[in-house]
Amino acid sequence: MAEYSAFQVFKNGLTGNTGWKQAWRKPEPKQQYDVVIIGGGGHGLATAYYLAVNHGITNVAICEKGWLGSGNIGRNTTIVRSNYLLNGNTPFYEHSMKLWENLSHELNYNVMFSQRGIINLCHTPAQLDDTARRGNSMRLMGVDARMLTPRDLARRVPGLDLSASARFPVLGGLVQPRAGTARHDAVAWGYARAADRRGVDILENCEVTGFLRDGDKVTGVATSRGEIRARKIAVCVAGSTSHMMKLAGIEKLPIESHVLQAFVSEALKPFLDTVVTFGGGHLYISQSDKGGLVFGGDIDGYNSYAQHGNLPVVEEVMSETVALFPAAAKVRLLRSWGGIMDMSMDGTPIITTGPLTGMYLNCGWCYGGFKATPASGWCFAHTIARDEPHELSAAFTLDRFHRGYVIDEKGQGATPWKH
Ligand SMILES: Cc1cc2nc3c(=O)[nH]c(=O)nc-3n(C[C@H](O)[C@H](O)[C@H](O)COP(=O)(O)OP(=O)(O)OC[C@H]3O[C@@H](n4cnc5c(N)ncnc54)[C@H](O)[C@@H]3O)c2cc1C
Repeated sequence: MAEYSAFQVFKNGLTGNTGWKQAWRKPEPKQQYDVVIIGGGGHGLATAYYLAVNHGITNVAICEKGWLGSGNIGRNTTIVRSNYLLNGNTPFYEHSMKLWENLSHELNYNVMFSQRGIINLCHTPAQLDDTARRGNSMRLMGVDARMLTPRDLARRVPGLDLSASARFPVLGGLVQPRAGTARHDAVAWGYARAADRRGVDILENCEVTGFLRDGDKVTGVATSRGEIRARKIAVCVAGSTSHMMKLAGIEKLPIESHVLQAFVSEALKPFLDTVVTFGGGHLYISQSDKGGLVFGGDIDGYNSYAQHGNLPVVEEVMSETVALFPAAAKVRLLRSWGGIMDMSMDGTPIITTGPLTGMYLNCGWCYGGFKATPASGWCFAHTIARDEPHELSAAFTLDRFHRGYVIDEKGQGATPWKH
């Protein structure tokens, strides 16, 4: 049944908005659960949901130190895509795409998934070749992809500077038509409501401050709302991963925390009906349903736990935006914000059992964890329930760094700011 139907909006508008049901409960923590998930971001919530739905495990608590959605799930630029090159990545992200395509129905919550396509622009002949290779690899693995000529681009993205005198002349592009955007808050709220209805306790304002241990085994967590014991502890804290693992006595992980900024402009009339990424630097841009241009670029490039960034990146992102879309020069910037990114050393995520007994780790999402939210939850829930990796995330275990089987999609090496 549609709980947020047009009829309900109308009826509640006339009755002082008193008829809405609470979306999720505010329970008191129990002393013991089967699984405690640390982090109420998209990945933690999706994990709880799939633990309940796919594995029948519902005695689960999510400990979130702030309010639900206060982390990167509510701070990203909402791009969803599966346009990867390497075998370890493509099936995982394509599974995520398929889950996205049914997510609003699955959760009975409109996550506003809009398959408006993503276009990667190319500015050199070598980049065109490289991009065509990625497109071919995608098609071989069953993912939609098509090369675009400048003439196609002129029709598809009229605001783009395609002149020969452009600062970064555009030679073509690659489109993934099924890619797009989704409403990030709705994804968190949708998973939260669906998990709560299946019995999961969402504990907001419940900061994990330490781990309870029995020798090498993790047996629970100390929190700002008391101690909670559990058979299994799943860590899903994105940019706070190193800090969290330090509480467990693990000093070294192939993860660095960096701030990534995002920007939104004042609302404009329809200007851009797809997502565009710039191949000459680092910029991704789309237009939200409210009309604002939503865009971002590189991480700030220094380690930080601050949820705000610095001016050099602002300047760089603005100059790239104006170079691509000269008409944007007159647009006013409305807001900017930052999120703490869990940058892995090969640019690929980690979904794994361990590193301690009783512990499970999900992190390393770099710039791209929003689009992975459904598949991450799906595979992490499998890992927790079965104590073994899901076949789609088997390449993402932590031991790849010991074995030398890193998945370096961009071939950038251990340089987090380049992934
Ligand atoms: C500006 C920006 C733009 C981005 N754009 C995109 C994009 O367009 N597409 C895309 O795919 N990805 C994008 N990302 C990345 C994506 O948002 C993240 O990779 C993804 O959201 C991370 O997973 P999460 O949702 O679980 O993290 P989060 O929402 O950050 O969840 C982690 C949670 O852990 C909680 N936590 C931390 N410490 C503790 C503790 N001690 N106790 C309890 N809880 C704790 C935090 O409060 C937080 O709520 C972007 C990120 C940013 C910041």
